[in-house]
Amino acid sequence: MRLSRLHMPTLREVPKDAEITSHKLLLRGGFIRKVAAGIYDYLPLARRTLRKIENIVREELDRAGAQEILMPVVQPSELWEESERWNKYGPELMRMTDRKAGHFCLGPTHEEVVVDLVRRDVRSWRALPLNLYQIQVKFRDEIRPRAGLMRGREFIMKDAYSFDTDEAAANASYDAMYAAYERIFTRCGLEFRAVEADTGAIGGKRSHEFQVLAETGEDRIVSCEQCGYAANTEQAELKPDAAGDIATGEAGEAAEKVATPKKRTIEDVAAFLNVPTSAMIKTLMISADGELHAVLIRGDHELNEIKLAKHLGVSEVAMADEAAVKSATGVPVGFLGPIELKGVKSVIADHSVARITDGVVGANEIDQHIIHVAAGRDFNPTCYTDVRMAVDGDPCPRCGGALRTYKGIEVGHVFFLGTRYSEPMKCNYLDEAGKESPMMMGCYGIGISRVMAAAIEQNHDEHGITWPSTIAPYQAIVLPLQMNKEDVVSTAEQIYGALNEAGVEVLLDDRNERAGSKFKDADLIGIPVRIAVGGRGVQEGVVEVKTRTGGDIEKVPFEPMSTLVERIQALL
Ligand code: ATP
Ligand code: MG
Repeated sequence: MRLSRLHMPTLREVPKDAEITSHKLLLRGGFIRKVAAGIYDYLPLARRTLRKIENIVREELDRAGAQEILMPVVQPSELWEESERWNKYGPELMRMTDRKAGHFCLGPTHEEVVVDLVRRDVRSWRALPLNLYQIQVKFRDEIRPRAGLMRGREFIMKDAYSFDTDEAAANASYDAMYAAYERIFTRCGLEFRAVEADTGAIGGKRSHEFQVLAETGEDRIVSCEQCGYAANTEQAELKPDAAGDIATGEAGEAAEKVATPKKRTIEDVAAFLNVPTSAMIKTLMISADGELHAVLIRGDHELNEIKLAKHLGVSEVAMADEAAVKSATGVPVGFLGPIELKGVKSVIADHSVARITDGVVGANEIDQHIIHVAAGRDFNPTCYTDVRMAVDGDPCPRCGGALRTYKGIEVGHVFFLGTRYSEPMKCNYLDEAGKESPMMMGCYGIGISRVMAAAIEQNHDEHGITWPSTIAPYQAIVLPLQMNKEDVVSTAEQIYGALNEAGVEVLLDDRNERAGSKFKDADLIGIPVRIAVGGRGVQEGVVEVKTRTGGDIEKVPFEPMSTLVERIQALL
């Protein structure tokens, strides 16, 4: 492709509303343009990279025995009523009405449609296992679309659905997809972790998220350097007496009430009393199923709402409303503490609180705290359990090694669904004895457009993108540096022709631009191999070859042309 013809509208300035590197570089490199919030055009370079990612996905899924189909974007409400999600899904589901007053939605995911497809035509155990996938546009009316392609409203997803006779077979399908995902993300050149994830309210049995490690990620994960265990921070189980749960001193001095005038935050009180925040006990008021619970957490820890919800057996917990707390306990938020606390259904303490022997708690009185507090002596919670977020250095629940925390971008998700959809929608099969049962399902997503953005978060420098070679839009770029020199232009043309001929995906920057801006653009769009053709070099019979990430420029002769072509191929 000639750059003079390519629709690649690069920008010199960093667009104002772009928050993170991938968003900035995709806009500056002329890969995407915004149409509306969370809705984008994919320009030619982006389309090529997306297609490369899609093809890696296709190859690996086909290899794992899945079959590609294409389902509709527009889905009838009737199917969603059968699965009881028409009302449950909430405002992320974009609903609409057709001219005959029929209700439809734009597919945010395709369980309903695929289950309907399979239940109509698959009846016998002989047809199972079956795994169907598609690569298609999804629409989710996200409350906060952000960071360009990272969280769009319209985005490209690969979604796959497996159907099996029983749990063992479904687990085998799950394992095959898990393995395919590892190959896919490795081939895309990404550094990732497969982490154990929450199975949520629908109560599936197994779930893993594939997280690309990046500082700009929204998700937090932990991983054990010793045994390889990895989990979502929300999921990482912490046993009692974790190494970080240090005792704060000998239980000696008696508890004592002290004035803490106008000090409301943990940091303020700790600084005022000259104690570390780890000696503070936060008393958080939580509402779950309309009831009020107090949760005790060490001052330097964070509450994990998912663990708490699981502990309480509810689907969701929320911070209680301040007025409700005041009326139930008689104490304003900020001065609550576990000693003589009234008006709560239960007091749930994190394991780490049990180790506090010289702590500080609110006194249930304005501007008062109690110091020298020992758990077990001065207060006894209803129970001790694991309700906090893991932090660096916490012990691995598998091997006891040290956990490390990372930020991650979720690029893929594998989920064991069981009969969540097949049962209500009657997607049944007949076994050998003629007995009818619901099929066991799994679902498997990859955010194709998010993978492109995540790859840039991991692969860039101050000049632009540094694509992994497997997903770069083109493999090589030829830069004639002086367009007014005939021998330069004709040599560049010959090299371009020869590389094309050899099957290398190559760009020729035949624009009437200065050498400097050609180098800049080539760096910005991240083409892995650059071949610079300059006047002096052509006289000497050499061109300058450089990889996007490698430091050194290599002078390579172009006569015979096959020497150069072979050298380039070796670099790809
Ligand atoms: P998230 O927690 O990021 O909202 P999710 O749990 O809703 O993700 P799934 O329903 O499992 O995501 O979708 C499968 C994959 O689709 C995700 O792993 C992610 O890579 C991608 N994805 C989900 N939502 C978006 C979005 N708004 N924009 C781009 N990609 C997305
Ligand atoms: Mg989501």
